[in-house]
Amino acid sequence: MIIPSNKFYTTGRELEYMQNCLSNQSIDSNGFYTSKVQDWIGKTFNCPKVLLTTSATSALEMACLLLDLQPGDEVILPSFTFVSTANAVLLRGARPVFVDIQPGTLNLDPDNLQEKISSRTRAVIPVHYAGVACDMEAIMSIAQQYELSVIEDAAQAMNAKYKDSYLGTIGDLGCFSFHSTKNLVCGEGGALLLNRDNTEMLERAEIVWEKGTNRNQFLRCQVDKYSWVDIGSSYAPSDLLAAFLYAQLESMDAISIAREKVYQYFYSYLQSFERQDLIILPEIPSWAKSNYHIFYLLLNSNSQRNQVMNDLRSNGVGASFHFIPLHSSPMGQRLGYRPGDLPITEELSSRLLRLPIYPQMSMDEQTYVMEALSQSLQSLCK
Ligand SMILES: *Cc1c(COP(=O)(O)O)cnc(C)c1O
Repeated sequence: MIIPSNKFYTTGRELEYMQNCLSNQSIDSNGFYTSKVQDWIGKTFNCPKVLLTTSATSALEMACLLLDLQPGDEVILPSFTFVSTANAVLLRGARPVFVDIQPGTLNLDPDNLQEKISSRTRAVIPVHYAGVACDMEAIMSIAQQYELSVIEDAAQAMNAKYKDSYLGTIGDLGCFSFHSTKNLVCGEGGALLLNRDNTEMLERAEIVWEKGTNRNQFLRCQVDKYSWVDIGSSYAPSDLLAAFLYAQLESMDAISIAREKVYQYFYSYLQSFERQDLIILPEIPSWAKSNYHIFYLLLNSNSQRNQVMNDLRSNGVGASFHFIPLHSSPMGQRLGYRPGDLPITEELSSRLLRLPIYPQMSMDEQTYVMEALSQSLQSLCK
């Protein structure tokens, strides 16, 4: 049996909606389905302003641009994240300051955040790893105390919650991804959520999104011609992709529920190995409602992780590690970071193993993954 690390899910309505774009001669950005998707996300998540973007990478770039980050500014973010979180800061000439994570969730450690704040700190980017919420109350209260802006990297966290609030709607700005490896997909896409009633920023966001023009105001007849008024870029995706995404949104809850079933099956199956101290299972704090984006576990050492990962791969199971910490990558070294700077991040990422998880994983496939894993874990005891 071959079980890939990920398979995206389709609802069956994607092509019909995309066909509507063709029939209506509307395939560029900012069209019918773009508005429909933005309205749907805004209403469902209770967010005042949503802009569909070409990726979470673009949403993060837009967020940093809207905060007017300048050379010399510092932005605090975990090293245990995808490169786009840090690139967005660097593209503004600002400096990413990496912070350590907490063992249970692999999310940003609020105490370490507080320690890393300097007079140059402008913002913090919490990353909700695996679709499990960071400690948002602690983070928001530190941000308020030091007057920092908060950009949530919720690329993995659509349809997950911190208490009663959807992730992406708590910070000043939030970013989602619809890349094919995420829970909801459209073939490269993302969204930027603007959560504050800040007229200046809301107006500017539409301008930056429309390549630095006031085209949106023109379309609403608020100005009589459209012109170049600010910097911006091509951040809005084709309406074809918005149409694809609209079909996915209609099945958002069903997708989370199907992933949860696989997650719970793996979790209960593996508890006996945790009791034998062979592995550590992930924690979902009581404040978090997960979207079950990732199933990971921690082995006791890097060599055990590599052995189990190789065993699974040789059995056709797409097991993988996750996130080479950014500070220990070649670019991180160029920024002046050294191995040893973030001990918890380095330790945990070296022991982390991801298992395949997708909504349409059959019971046979789930059992196959668990049996291959059990066999490998048992061989560690010998
Ligand atoms: C996937 C991901 C991104 C990037 O998303 P794209 O839509 O591919 O640009 C950013 N941050 C995190 C934490 C991610 O997991």
